[in-house]
Amino acid sequence: MAKVLCVLYDDPTGGHPTTYARDDLPVIDHYPGGQTTPTPEAVDFTPGHLLGSVSGELGLRAFLEKAGHTLVVTSDKDGDGSVFDRELPDADVVISQPFWPAYLTPERMAAAKNLKLAITAGIGSDHVDLDAAIAHGVTVAEVTYCNSISVAEHVVMMTLSLVRNYLPSHQVVLDGGWNIADCVARSYDLEGMHVGTVAAGRIGLAVLRRLAPFDVKLHYTDRHRLPREVEEELNLTFHPTTADMVPHCDLVTINAPLHPETEGLFGDELLATMKRGAHLINTARAKIVDQDAIERALRSGQLAGYAGDVWYPQPAPADHPWRTMPHHGMTPHISGSSLSAQARYAAGTREILESWLSGSPIRGEYLIVEGGALAGTGAHSYSVTH
Ligand code: NDP
Repeated sequence: MAKVLCVLYDDPTGGHPTTYARDDLPVIDHYPGGQTTPTPEAVDFTPGHLLGSVSGELGLRAFLEKAGHTLVVTSDKDGDGSVFDRELPDADVVISQPFWPAYLTPERMAAAKNLKLAITAGIGSDHVDLDAAIAHGVTVAEVTYCNSISVAEHVVMMTLSLVRNYLPSHQVVLDGGWNIADCVARSYDLEGMHVGTVAAGRIGLAVLRRLAPFDVKLHYTDRHRLPREVEEELNLTFHPTTADMVPHCDLVTINAPLHPETEGLFGDELLATMKRGAHLINTARAKIVDQDAIERALRSGQLAGYAGDVWYPQPAPADHPWRTMPHHGMTPHISGSSLSAQARYAAGTREILESWLSGSPIRGEYLIVEGGALAGTGAHSYSVTH
């Protein structure tokens, strides 16, 4: 029987909801490109309910306990003597979400003597040290595609919000004011601007598709080039590297995984090559940018705005400089955890567990590491240091 240790974010401050803003979710059975949404044998939750916080338990308890397994759920993941550290040594499976990551460092991996499977209930397994997972023979899986469109929608929202100066204008209303000039002195139209994405995978391509109707000029860089018909359909300009692309762009959106090739990519040097007054949006991972260089670029005016939802570490401390830097539109890490996305990644987590517990193969598109090597999606999109 397996012990499953699940780290989830805290419940709402007012307690787990008993009613919701909507009664249902649209039914989505496949993603762009044809991959099906998760196909577990059953689910024990109501799609549209809050599943990602501690009381939601990703809807897993009945399924696991009926089969005799143990489920431990906690939000207490950091600091000496955390519940996560106490429960880890005999856990067979660890589940956590990128929004509230249980960092599986080499030290924790060494302490987790029974660990065989680390599931990311979401996308982005950089909180798991992949080198250590490979060394310890731990399988790493994530619910590929579950929230890619959720994030792409967030990027579009932040794009318009930054360029049109939405948040400061909303603040004027909240403050009881009406100074139009205060609102519009930094407000532009997106139309005609050059917008580039670092990576055109599931999220990056979805962002390009969603921005195309705004009559912008679209650019991208990626390790693999998109099919020619997609480039032609969206009138895309391809650049071999990020450094080649960013000087042409009024707005850049980062949609690459965090791995050795992308860590620290946006530092002072690269930011200095961007157009003065460009906007930068990062919903991928905070460590792809140099935290202090971003603040400097906003204060100097090199960047006109920065937005995103990814921070390091998470949760971000109360005195994190990004909370108070000028012209930002940051949110906590929420873009991939809408109630719509939660229904998909809870179902995907259950599908991965069903496969693993029954000894069946996990879908290749969910795999990051298996059998001591990068595998499936991981072999395509990630790199390791050795
Ligand atoms: P995909 O794997 O579909 O796409 C990632 C793309 O990045 C691939 O096309 C890959 O290239 C490309 N890439 C990898 N390294 C580089 C590089 N050095 N330079 C340029 N391109 C590179 O992933 P998704 O689009 O689904 O997700 C992307 C990332 O977004 C995730 O890894 C995660 O970190 C983040 N994310 C954030 C969420 C949030 O809530 N904020 C939620 C979900 C994801 P190729 O495959 O061609 O080699």
